Amino acid sequence: MNNNALKQILFLPIYKYKQDIINKINDENINVIIIIGETGCGKTTQVPKIIYENCSLENKMICITQPRRIAAISISERVSEEMNRRIGDLIGYSVRFKEKMSKKTKIKYVTDGMLIRECIIDRNLSKYKYIILDEIHERSIHTDILMMICKDLIINKKRKDLKLIIMSATLNPKKYMDYFNTNCLLKIEGRKYPVKVYNIEEDNNNNLINNNDSYYDYYDLISKYIDRCLNCILQIILSDKEENKEGDILVFLPGQEDIEDLQELLLNKKEEIKNELPGKKIEFMVLPLFGSLPSNQQMKIFRPIKNKFGKNIRKIILSTNIAETSLTIKNIKFVIDSGFFKKRKFYPKLNIDTLKIEPISKNSALQRSGRTGRESPGNCYRLYTKEEYNNFDENTEPEIKRINLRNTSLQLLSIGYNNLNNIDFIDKPPKENFNNAYEDLISLGALDKEENHKITELGKKMSILPIDPIYSIILINSLNDEYTEVFEDIVSIISVLQSDNIFYTPNSKKEIIEKLREKFIDPNSDHLTLRNIFKEYKNNKNKEEFCKENYLNDKALQKSMEIYQQIIGYLKKIKINEYKKDEEKEIKDKIEQIDRYLNGLKNLGTDNNEIKNKLIKECLITGYFNNISKYSGDNFFSTIKGNQLCKIHPTSVLIKNPKLGKQYGYLIFNEMIVTSKKYLKCCTLITSQQVEKYISKNRK
Ligand code: ADP
Ligand code: MG
Repeated sequence: MNNNALKQILFLPIYKYKQDIINKINDENINVIIIIGETGCGKTTQVPKIIYENCSLENKMICITQPRRIAAISISERVSEEMNRRIGDLIGYSVRFKEKMSKKTKIKYVTDGMLIRECIIDRNLSKYKYIILDEIHERSIHTDILMMICKDLIINKKRKDLKLIIMSATLNPKKYMDYFNTNCLLKIEGRKYPVKVYNIEEDNNNNLINNNDSYYDYYDLISKYIDRCLNCILQIILSDKEENKEGDILVFLPGQEDIEDLQELLLNKKEEIKNELPGKKIEFMVLPLFGSLPSNQQMKIFRPIKNKFGKNIRKIILSTNIAETSLTIKNIKFVIDSGFFKKRKFYPKLNIDTLKIEPISKNSALQRSGRTGRESPGNCYRLYTKEEYNNFDENTEPEIKRINLRNTSLQLLSIGYNNLNNIDFIDKPPKENFNNAYEDLISLGALDKEENHKITELGKKMSILPIDPIYSIILINSLNDEYTEVFEDIVSIISVLQSDNIFYTPNSKKEIIEKLREKFIDPNSDHLTLRNIFKEYKNNKNKEEFCKENYLNDKALQKSMEIYQQIIGYLKKIKINEYKKDEEKEIKDKIEQIDRYLNGLKNLGTDNNEIKNKLIKECLITGYFNNISKYSGDNFFSTIKGNQLCKIHPTSVLIKNPKLGKQYGYLIFNEMIVTSKKYLKCCTLITSQQVEKYISKNRK
């Protein structure tokens, strides 16, 4: 980084408060510090540096959490650059299934989920002298849990030396000051550059959001906001005004489908403009950004793209709210905010997890506009009226109050928190959500039914795996002798499910692609189809070519491969722990034996696919038994738990063979998607005998 850029950093508003921050951190009587400052003032990148350079570390580390992977990775890279160090050296990051760290690392950016996993191994987080919980206003479930854990460490004097810094853009600090029983609040005033905010005009026709949300037509709504985004983008790029001729555009949309739709529309427009307005020299590149996009593709948004003359090409980034907080993307001059996001909500009585498009909160609107004005002045176009804005909620409902707590509960129990309903969270989840989680975990065998919901040995093993308990139980079961033959298949399937969407299917080529992929398809199972693809990929020497030929996402499969290796590593740990308990056995010998076992498995397995596939299905049922649905005529399936009538998702292989559903009678599904209808995604047909076999086995 050049000297001028480094000097610029010292002009960030946060530096006016540098001494104040240092004094508070060094004050023996203060354990919890709350820092609030406008977006872009320098909290996330500078506070860890200020601490590192001015406060004593006592051989410990500074840990900064982020709710999202992309932020943890990109910000740690930025800070390394500012400090002129290589990433993974002094400054590192750790996110699920990926880390860059070394013995020298002192400043560690992590996702909040990763820090919770560290608590399972070391409840006191003794590696860290300073823990910074960043972007707390986002109220991710993991950040809420970490607030609770850190409060417990400090208030109950388990870690007298720990300093907790909680940071956020805009929020009412009172709630947090009360929760942590602290008066120590630092408000950073000022931002570096102004952002002009525009709303659309008041007009009855302009109201997208009807206050009574059951009235609006879902599809009508979607096509309207996509249309508005398209028009707004076109107005900027076709404008003759000098100030609109340069600068990248960041558009916020609810989901991947919206992004892909708008991307296609924009590319068509590009052609149209070329043909109809040949005089206009318009060059732009559309970059999608959503959670399940492979991380190498996500990182593209940070790099400049040059044309053949070496000039920057204008970027139009279409993003979900994963870019809403934390990120600084260079050269964003325009933010376009659709005003919607996809909200996850769990209904325990029906056992359904829904993802619904809803209006954002005022706080989200502010965060979205804060993605510009970071390096120079910016503009934010809000595609909703001022009146609609006034009707937005102040904040988005905290995740902990609305999502499935199965995973979280298992983690809390393995950290050592026992009575989940009595934990001192900043906002308590509904009681029935914990009860539902207890129920699920008992039926998975992770908790003891009799003994006060104590975590079982199996539950402890499950918590070693950084994945949902549904999958960890399947993997642990696959270690049993009866599944030896299909062990590799099971790990393959679960690894692919943990990665991103491996299919790449542009709308225009749908038919050709379907023909190409026929060879992989198992007509009664999406899971087995995934297994077939992964197997081919694994054995293929020219992986890139293989993916290109079959329109598969190379990066996603590469990631599945990495996850596959890591899962094998975790399973090895589980096996070793089993032996450690048995003191008489020589551990070293045993480890070698395990290695032989895990490596040797590749050569096992019969050629009889029928038998193998049956075994695979049986092993999958051990985790998916709450996700069983029964055929109920007319291509509908009804869930056993919750009794919900659902259709098969159009991406499933089962769609092509509707007769099979009736023939088998049952299926297991990976997830339920709820839009205006309910769909089951990633399904495998099973027979009533298989369901009965599972039930009778489990009764024993
Ligand atoms: P905050 O956390 O307060 O929102 P950050 O610490 O993330 O702010 O960033 C502070 C400022 O540092 C940004 O406004 C921007 O000017 C600069 N900055 C941060 N990251 C980058 C980056 N990757 N590239 C260029 N400038 C950056
Ligand atoms: Mg920040």
